[in-house]
Amino acid sequence: MSIGIYIHVPFCLQKCNYCDFISYPYDAGLAASYVYALEREMKLHAGKMPADQREVRTVFLGGGTPSLLSGQHLALILENCRRYFRIRDDAEITVECNPGTVTREKFALMRRAGVNRISIGVQAFQSRILSFLGRIHSFAQVTEAVKACRDEGIDNISCDLIYGIPGQTGQDWQETLDRVLNLSPAHISAYGLKVEPETPLYKAVASGSVVPCDEDAELEMYQYVISILAARGFKHYEISNFALPGMEARHNLIYWLNEEYLGLGPAAHSMLDRHRFSNVKCVASYIKKLEKNELAVQEIISLSLEDEISETVFLGLRLLGGLDTLAFARRFGCSAADIFGPQLKKLTDLGLIKINANSIRLTEKGLPLANEVFVEFI
Ligand code: SF4
Repeated sequence: MSIGIYIHVPFCLQKCNYCDFISYPYDAGLAASYVYALEREMKLHAGKMPADQREVRTVFLGGGTPSLLSGQHLALILENCRRYFRIRDDAEITVECNPGTVTREKFALMRRAGVNRISIGVQAFQSRILSFLGRIHSFAQVTEAVKACRDEGIDNISCDLIYGIPGQTGQDWQETLDRVLNLSPAHISAYGLKVEPETPLYKAVASGSVVPCDEDAELEMYQYVISILAARGFKHYEISNFALPGMEARHNLIYWLNEEYLGLGPAAHSMLDRHRFSNVKCVASYIKKLEKNELAVQEIISLSLEDEISETVFLGLRLLGGLDTLAFARRFGCSAADIFGPQLKKLTDLGLIKINANSIRLTEKGLPLANEVFVEFI
């Protein structure tokens, strides 16, 4: 069974106001040590993994801001991946890019290194909203980045967007979607803004200087994105994700199908052999560990069969196609109804899920209440 590889690149030019991901200010020397540590980490993991697990069908460089790394470093990381793992010829290889950090040359180097998918952090069209979020780029830079990316031969482009931002109106959101659709992306991720603890946004909301978006307004924005993207030929295939036919994010599908992946880099998470494990968050500690030829794993959680079943159900329900009940029965030798009969009945009676011949899925009513559905299976 092939796996996915996630590589966490822990550098950003500037911290966005809403973000709680692990990232540090970019420093060329630190980046070089990080790339070297990554190679050691790949070698250590590959040395322990059986050949079939070393076969890779997706690679995702996320962050942080992977596009802050030089084109040479990005190419070296992928070259090292190929040295220690068998990256399939048809593998999906994605790099997350911040529009303020890319150049035509960098895209050309990525393309030559095998990158075939770019995920661009667009977030919004309006300058005042981008500046409120603490983004370092303008929408004009998004347009330039998309053009440069296409000119250099990478056509599979995904755009990340945020709605439910304080001060964002329904009209702002419609305008953002219009502008993004003009760029003809193959895939769009649209996330409701979460106010995460410890962020400047959280402090501003707590102090009362920023008023969060009204829940009804946020729900309207969610319903709008669903309807406009359906009208433009996008398939709504996961709660927050939309794709043109055949252009679903294959890497993220690994997460939603609760399949195996290896996470590399500081703070990266893995799921292998019924174990979830995560690396230390601090980039300096990560590098130090790898310099001693030791893995930088901080926490290992061994999953019971019950844990795996429960995770497979609620992750699968994120997909609009629902949990594939035949695949579930093949994987676990029992049906979801055998284990979660009362929960499934309750949620069906509430109209939040629908059970078909081969699937269990969220209904239109259940979609915005997904978290309430998921807790039933935990
Ligand atoms: S660029 Fe991305 S990872 Fe970096 S601070 Fe902003 S949202 Fe977070």
